[in-house]
Amino acid sequence: MYSNDMTKKALIIGGGIAGPVTAMALRRAGIDGEVFEAYDRGAEGVGAFLTLAVNGLEALRLLGLHDVVADLGMDTPVMEIRNARGRLLATTSQPSRTLRRSDLYRVLRDEAVRRGVPIHYGKRLVDAFATSRGVRAVFADGSEAEGDLLVGADGLRSRTRTLIDPGAPRARYVGLLNTGGYAEGVRVPGRPGVCYFVFGRRCFFGYMIHPEGQVWWFANPPSRREMSAEELAAITPEQWRARLLDLFEGDAGPMREIIAATPRIMPAWNTYDFPSVPTWFRDRMVIVGDAAHATSPSSGQGASMAIEDAVVLGKCLRDVPDVTDAFAAFERLRRERVERVVAQGKRNGDGKAPGVLGAFVRDLVLPVIMRQVEKRNAMAWMHDHRIHWDEPVSV
Ligand SMILES: Cc1cc2nc3c(=O)[nH]c(=O)nc-3n(C[C@H](O)[C@H](O)[C@H](O)COP(=O)(O)OP(=O)(O)OC[C@H]3O[C@@H](n4cnc5c(N)ncnc54)[C@H](O)[C@@H]3O)c2cc1C
Repeated sequence: MYSNDMTKKALIIGGGIAGPVTAMALRRAGIDGEVFEAYDRGAEGVGAFLTLAVNGLEALRLLGLHDVVADLGMDTPVMEIRNARGRLLATTSQPSRTLRRSDLYRVLRDEAVRRGVPIHYGKRLVDAFATSRGVRAVFADGSEAEGDLLVGADGLRSRTRTLIDPGAPRARYVGLLNTGGYAEGVRVPGRPGVCYFVFGRRCFFGYMIHPEGQVWWFANPPSRREMSAEELAAITPEQWRARLLDLFEGDAGPMREIIAATPRIMPAWNTYDFPSVPTWFRDRMVIVGDAAHATSPSSGQGASMAIEDAVVLGKCLRDVPDVTDAFAAFERLRRERVERVVAQGKRNGDGKAPGVLGAFVRDLVLPVIMRQVEKRNAMAWMHDHRIHWDEPVSV
């Protein structure tokens, strides 16, 4: 079961975004990887959509995965922000692609399999420990797997994170719920290619017009209190429709028409982030993606950070012979950047539920700030970040 002396074998926990991409990056680095996913194929990732930022798209390109997502969803290179009175607050441009999460998961897994990565479904990691030669993973169904190293790409509620550090912090609830849907047969102002964001008086709303006519949208109803899974499950899609229609009553914009034209509103979920996860690796186990640094969806960077992590970890394991040293190099290269993204996501999210006075100040200040951001290219640190696959990593 262990690798031979020449090739290391990685156990990769989680078949979301970071997992399959890590497997493909490691393969490129000469390391065999197998992915272990808790759910049965197709059972998760359903519903919502996400935006891949240019830095994430460029990281995919390094692994020859850019084309794999090119036919999914739509390009969304422009962002327009308005307030509840319909006043334009800002317009920015930045290449990005918006696609359904389930489609992204599917194509990444299919491509990993096509490249020879085994993906095992129904394998929920429950335990893992170091052995004399590597690491052993134990799954809920009683099966086990052994390898030279283990990568926890198991998301926000990572089991690997608590196996590495039983005292690891819990995710922080960021005060917003997330819901949305796909509206049919409704004509709204705007054109494909633009993400339209509206700071409603009581709720933030975003929508995009698909070239084939559907309107993809999300809303972030504020909720000071983190609701339990049972409380959220008890609210039906029709109750969400009624609540959202009420939240946008009196605001300028097509929100209510879009909500009314949506066959099924997604049940809302809480949103979280991790300001900082102190320990990313121990022995031969490391965490990547949301497991190490989940960011609020308001950053628009969670998936892109997961992809960047995968590529950088591949480079570190390629160039640094000792596995623990390679994990340390990975953390050194990634921690500052991802924590900065998480902090930015929190700031973006806080602007979505600011109260009356806060909204007044925001509407005055945001246009000025956004003009300065454009002029000085102040978000270049986030979007212009590029990883160079051939550049060696040193200890
Ligand atoms: C509604 C929503 C909107 C978002 N919008 C954006 C956006 O616009 N842009 C953006 O960049 N990001 C966005 N994100 C964030 C993005 O989806 C995540 O950052 C990204 O999916 C992280 O990838 P990951 O592989 O680390 O984790 P995940 O995609 O969560 O994958 C983790 C995988 O691990 C599996 N798993 C969990 N526990 C175990 C276990 N014990 N054993 C085995 N497998 C396990 C899970 O089933 C899952 O398949 C959004 C997220 C949400 C929820």
